[in-house]
Amino acid sequence: TKSSHDYQPDIASRTPPYPKLLRKLHEVRRVLGPERQLTLAEKILYSHLDNVEESLLSNTDNGLNIRGNANLKLKPDRVAMQDASAQMALLQFMTCNLPSTAVPASIHCDHMIVGEKGADVDLPESIKGNKEVFDFLESAAKKYGIEFWPPGAGIIHQTVLENYSAPGLMMLGTDSHTPNAGGLGAIAIGVGGADAVDALVDAPWELKAPKVLGVRLEGELSGWASPKDVILHLAGRLTVRGGTGFIIEYHGPGVDTLSCTGMATICNMGAEVGATTSLFPFSTRHIPYLEATNRSAIALQAQTIASIESLRNLLCADENARYDEVITIDLSKLEPHINGPNTPDLSTPLSKFAEAVKTNNWPTTLSAGLIGSCTNSSYQDMSRAEDLVKQAAAAGLSPSNDFFVTPGSEQIRATLEKDETLKTFEDAGGVVLANACGVRKILIPCIGQWTRTDGVKKGDDNAIFTSYNRNFRGRNDGNPNTMNFLASPELVTAMSYAGTTTFNPLTDSLTTPHGETFRFNPPSGAELPASGFEIGNPDFLPTSGAPSPSTPVIVSPTSDRLALLDPFAPFPESDLKGLRVLYKVTGKCTTDTISAAGPWLKYKGHLPNISANTLITAVNAATGEVNVAYDVDGSTSSIPELAQRWKDKGLEWLVVAEHNYGEGSAREHAALQPRYLGGRVILTKSFARIHETNLKKQGVVPLTFANESDYDLVDACDHVDTVGLYDVLTSGGKGNVVLKVTKKSGEVLEIKTKHTMSEDQCRFILAGSALNVLAKMAKK
Ligand code: SF4
Repeated sequence: TKSSHDYQPDIASRTPPYPKLLRKLHEVRRVLGPERQLTLAEKILYSHLDNVEESLLSNTDNGLNIRGNANLKLKPDRVAMQDASAQMALLQFMTCNLPSTAVPASIHCDHMIVGEKGADVDLPESIKGNKEVFDFLESAAKKYGIEFWPPGAGIIHQTVLENYSAPGLMMLGTDSHTPNAGGLGAIAIGVGGADAVDALVDAPWELKAPKVLGVRLEGELSGWASPKDVILHLAGRLTVRGGTGFIIEYHGPGVDTLSCTGMATICNMGAEVGATTSLFPFSTRHIPYLEATNRSAIALQAQTIASIESLRNLLCADENARYDEVITIDLSKLEPHINGPNTPDLSTPLSKFAEAVKTNNWPTTLSAGLIGSCTNSSYQDMSRAEDLVKQAAAAGLSPSNDFFVTPGSEQIRATLEKDETLKTFEDAGGVVLANACGVRKILIPCIGQWTRTDGVKKGDDNAIFTSYNRNFRGRNDGNPNTMNFLASPELVTAMSYAGTTTFNPLTDSLTTPHGETFRFNPPSGAELPASGFEIGNPDFLPTSGAPSPSTPVIVSPTSDRLALLDPFAPFPESDLKGLRVLYKVTGKCTTDTISAAGPWLKYKGHLPNISANTLITAVNAATGEVNVAYDVDGSTSSIPELAQRWKDKGLEWLVVAEHNYGEGSAREHAALQPRYLGGRVILTKSFARIHETNLKKQGVVPLTFANESDYDLVDACDHVDTVGLYDVLTSGGKGNVVLKVTKKSGEVLEIKTKHTMSEDQCRFILAGSALNVLAKMAKK
């Protein structure tokens, strides 16, 4: 293997544009007044504004109430995409006909790798099964100048931390755990492909200014407590919705006691409390990490900025910055925590866990332990886990259950191999999986989709411990009866030796094969490898970020996995006449209801094929049936079949639904698919905010009932004409729309509606989609 010192990445493209950001920050100070104290999140966000004055002074009481009110138009520095979501992002980018991306970008092949039999078998099988998708991504990356990290290179968030994240950077990533990069002082936000395209074509990306939750860290971790326990504890306090609309900003004297990778773990799981992102200020602990990962020049620049008092520096909060809320955590008193099952906010301190197992009747036998993943596979995590394995091995003990290790990147894997950490795990009976998410046959997106070899069958109650970040039902093995508990890698390792969920390594002992009593000492490990990181297999290094315009992008016209996109047609120069109600949904209608995951993920790059899953779990308000739609003649079919039939006849349609339509995720397919099948309007009692924005971006008009009870007046197959919609769109959102509904009986009703379409969003809808607007801008 080569050492990391032989690898010379393009540092210029990886360095945040500090001079520009400092100039912008200066402008922000001028606009808001020199007295205004800013949080770090505000400084980084506002110094990425396209138009400082307009963004900070409109709708904000002249700059007094920015957070929660201002619509920030941002210009991020970089984009990162994982293989599953990169497909639609690139297909959309391609319709803009630009020669290269406007900002540096990277693609990471990690989600479409199986995690089953170990890296040597899994990787080649995954590449074979997904070859055409990987070929497409690689050829498009080459053409447009995107760094392409091939299968085997690692998990997006670990690779981003090792290569791209930097203090003060602003990055968009097409994956919900993108905030992992906040551990190195960046604002990194998880978005859908259409948002990524905004940045790729140099169009401003809009974000409602988040509020800022300050988490003050005091004291220092010791013993068994780890950075993971900070976020497990915080998740318990905040709950899964507690971070919604907030950026979580860590500060206080405890920050410098954490490792850089520990900070990344904490930011990674901010996604589990719904936060927009999480971040740490530039810390002395970032310097050795940047140096060890070939970025001394960035460390130096960051240190210089941090030392210039007169700049009231870009990389930490002002002294008296005001947070919208503050939570204090004393690291010295923090216990290890275990969160779950089935939700990441059910948090139990280790000392109370055995009791909780008994009270809740959770399984006492532990079936498997899994460590690593994008959340917890740093050198420090692995060396602390290794320390425990060595202690146990010296006493003659082996894990009592299956024990899997997922390195987060080839760099980590190769370094752990050189330092014989992997050998320690394997000698103990552990299985080292590929440097990837471990998606099993891309059925369900996450690591750990392994075929159980421990005799646990679907439907069997069982408990597993993982050091990952998510634990909803079925996340790991598709078995809804598997209870997944989240913990630090150290705790998962120790529990795997006990084989029971009630074990407390701080107080309990194990019996060795010789009948002696064994108790673990608290884990210890190195933060960084003493002799540097290895790059490992040079085949896993990224391609160059220089565009090669003559490269053909490979999409087979007969492919069932990929299809080039045709731009959506512009809005007619009139109101919409003769729409028909395709389906009236009752109850919850999440993005998963609108575009199901599971086996459908395979078709993420093929809009016609994935559209066959549209609304397939939606409940019919008239009959209570699921996915049974009625045509005008009373005949039944599935919802997507009826939509396709109407599309073929040139009939456009609308869906009627209840509250919080589109809650769940930012999945853009949930907006693209209805649009593709002929959906023009979605009429609901209310929308989930992100999905509502996605609909507008794809040219679908989201309307809400002015009187909620009018939901009862509209039925499937009713004819609907819009009145005033064209005026609303052409006036930049002024006024409201009335729907003229003609019932089967011939009766005509007028339904008043409300909307939230801004001037920009009206432009998107008139053009057919936001992408059409971008394509036009790109041409100019
Ligand atoms: Fe997402 Fe799991 Fe992969 Fe992390 S390891 S990026 S959580 S799928």
